[in-house]
Amino acid sequence: MINILYIEENTNDQIIFTDHLADCKIEYELTHCASLESASEVLRMSKFDLIFCSYEFTEGSVIDLLEQHNLIEEIPLVVLSIKGNVKKTRDSLKNGAFDFLSKKDLNTPILDRIITNSLRATKENKLRLDLERRLDSIYANTRTILENTTDGIWSLDDTGKLLIMNSIAKDNIKEHSAKCPAIGEYFFDHISPLFRKIWLPLYEKVLKGEDIVTVDEYLDGDYQFFLEMAITPIISNTETVGVSFVARNVTERELADSKVRESEKNFRSVFTNSEVPIMLVSVSDNKIIDLNNASALLHDFDESQLMGKEIFDVIPQIHHDKFKKDFKNYKAGHLATLDSHILTSKQDIIPVQISVTEIFYKEKQCYLFFLYDISVRVETENKLKQARELAEKSAQFKSLFLANMSHEIRTPMNAMLGFADLLKKTPLNEEQQEYIDIIRNSGNDLLVIINDILDLTKIEAGKLKLRPKHFSLVEMVNRVIKLHKNKAKEKGFGLLLELDTALPDEVYLDDIRLSQVLNNLISNAIKFTEKGEIKLLLKRIGDDESESMMILVRDSGIGIPNVELETIFENFNQVDSSLQRKQSGTGLGLSIVHQLCELMNGSIVARSTVGVGSEFEVILPLNKHEHVEESDNSGVKKQILSDELNILICEDNPINVKLATKILDELGINYRVANNGKEGVEMLRTYTPDAVFMDLQMPEMNGYEATRQIREFSNIPIIAMSAHVMEEEQNKCLEAGMNGFIPKPFQGEDIILALQSQFSFDKKAAAASKTDKWKNLNMPGLTNLSRGDVEFAVSLFDIFMEQANSDHEAFLASLISNNLDVQASIAHRLLPSFMTFNFVQLQIMAEKIEADKASDEERTKFPLYLQMAIAEIAEKRSSFIKSN
Ligand code: ADP
Repeated sequence: MINILYIEENTNDQIIFTDHLADCKIEYELTHCASLESASEVLRMSKFDLIFCSYEFTEGSVIDLLEQHNLIEEIPLVVLSIKGNVKKTRDSLKNGAFDFLSKKDLNTPILDRIITNSLRATKENKLRLDLERRLDSIYANTRTILENTTDGIWSLDDTGKLLIMNSIAKDNIKEHSAKCPAIGEYFFDHISPLFRKIWLPLYEKVLKGEDIVTVDEYLDGDYQFFLEMAITPIISNTETVGVSFVARNVTERELADSKVRESEKNFRSVFTNSEVPIMLVSVSDNKIIDLNNASALLHDFDESQLMGKEIFDVIPQIHHDKFKKDFKNYKAGHLATLDSHILTSKQDIIPVQISVTEIFYKEKQCYLFFLYDISVRVETENKLKQARELAEKSAQFKSLFLANMSHEIRTPMNAMLGFADLLKKTPLNEEQQEYIDIIRNSGNDLLVIINDILDLTKIEAGKLKLRPKHFSLVEMVNRVIKLHKNKAKEKGFGLLLELDTALPDEVYLDDIRLSQVLNNLISNAIKFTEKGEIKLLLKRIGDDESESMMILVRDSGIGIPNVELETIFENFNQVDSSLQRKQSGTGLGLSIVHQLCELMNGSIVARSTVGVGSEFEVILPLNKHEHVEESDNSGVKKQILSDELNILICEDNPINVKLATKILDELGINYRVANNGKEGVEMLRTYTPDAVFMDLQMPEMNGYEATRQIREFSNIPIIAMSAHVMEEEQNKCLEAGMNGFIPKPFQGEDIILALQSQFSFDKKAAAASKTDKWKNLNMPGLTNLSRGDVEFAVSLFDIFMEQANSDHEAFLASLISNNLDVQASIAHRLLPSFMTFNFVQLQIMAEKIEADKASDEERTKFPLYLQMAIAEIAEKRSSFIKSN
């Protein structure tokens, strides 16, 4: 359906047109307007495909009307003219009408043709307009792209004339050329020779159909820049009709790249020429990307053989886990060095220290492994370790040897001194008396030396334990002074004591070791002084928080040279080590003193001026120690009155039973006795005491087994009693389920302490009174145990004699049957008694027999000595009774 508008004033012409139109083959709708004004109205309202109009209108022209409505190009206009107006009508064609027709010639076929033609023309026109619009938009887009890119873009035709160029290209070319070529000009005539030299040959190549991408360096005076050019042929219908250029300034990138290339070159040179073996390993897959010659040499492989292998292929399998763990710690900064091993082609293992750096190499995250062959170091370390172990072993051997030797020497020494004493009591002339004194003095000197060696070996082996207790400082110091006063007097000078009154009356220290320190320093001072005086000064230093005691031993003797002062506290060090030196000594004293001071958490220094005198300064912290019953920290102890306590004593040795029961009697504690472990366990099934005192070695059932059986039905506190005071033994008891430990031979205090560790009760222990008659006995163990109770002491003598007599016979029998077990058990049974009665030699023998370390000779001598001991006890018993 075509919408047709017909503008005509003449009614007659209207009718003719309508009639002809009606006969046309087309479908249409006709609108008729008689004036331009009404036509204008209609055009505003409706759309038409074709307009017919008469040429002449009184108000104006249809062309103007259409122009007003912007429709001149849109809708074809056919002008119907009357005769004589042909020229004017033709003019209207120039002004935009599509066709014209004389009204006179109007008939149906003509109208039909004109309508068909005009409609076709409209269609074509529309297509053209559309195409033009699209081209415009493409062109606009292209320009936008060209102008907005940072690259310089232009193209030339096949004769070298410029077709198109964006402003970036223009600006850049202008910068280095006199002027920029204009569109249509021969491009190469208007650019700098700098460009022409490079671009013209490229253009010619591309014209032949090649695609080129190139980066070139340009040097304009001093100014250096790099352009990356993409040059492509423009092809139309398989023909190359021109060339397009895209130029990009890549100066920054090129300069950076050249720096990278430079550093890469340097890296390679270092990497290749380094004598340190280096491997480059990929972080992502642990593969070896590269390695230098030194590394290949270390592995004894060709470089190519290792390339691409995993780092774990060159580390022995057994070291993988450690390496992984260490590497993780190394990277986290927890390990300063990374030690591992590598495999060579011959499967040799080389210890290496590895340091690792992470780098970015050829766009890959890599590790640089620097491998340092530490075979020599490891070998040296191993040798050193072996040497150290050997030295430690020989030091141990030395200690053991010294300890054994001291022990071995002490035994015959005891005999020599003992018999010298006995000999002294026999009738002798003066000369003989003198010789005996010399033997005794020399023997005593020798014993001091041996004791020193024993002390030192004990300290070195960490076996020397301090036994601190509360004691009176004044009393102790006075005893020391008394000991040396005579010697000083003999040499003709005084021994002065200055005691700071600010020092506490009572201190908590190991009194025996403290007097050992003082004795040593004072005897040295006396030994190395010929005139003047010796002073012992004791001062309180520090505050209440950290109270210490300063001890100064000052002499006016020969002094010690400065060089010697530095080493004076070392073992066996003597200032005058010549064989001709005047003073005796082993050079061990100061070393022991020094180590004892350190054991007591103190210190010692020596100051001296040769010819003027020496001063030894000891500082010892005075430990605060409440003089009250100690707690075992095991919580609240059972509050109990002593006469409410019930104890079961499991002990086979009658002396020990007697002793324990005596102390318990004194404390008002109730008890029962079982003669062995088995009996003890049985009794406990019906009797429920508060604690058990358990001997360890008993016939029928020993203390360990008894404890095990008791623990099956009772949690009763079990306190071990043993002559083995070593810590290992004590631990063994605790492990077996016992709760405490009493050393044999007992001291009353030990039993009280053991009970107090389990219960809280009032003790009423009687203080032991020590009188001369006790001293004469020379049995400190017995004196201590008896606490002034003569009757008790006598009963101990009796029990011992009875037991020793029967054991003497049993031992003789065991010698005949060579029954070492019986000998050991007799020795074990008698050992506490030997300690109580101060039979040192027998004690040593018994210890050896018990430990199966005694020689045949010692075993044979044992009953002999035992008999002598029985006789001595018998004698002492009667004189003791007499003196009471
Ligand atoms: P010794 O048994 O030889 O006395 P010490 O270890 O007690 O061993 O002393 C080591 C050496 O230190 C002594 O041999 C002596 O040369 C020197 N010495 C120690 N005390 C003094 C002192 N008060 N005056 C001078 N020399 C001393």
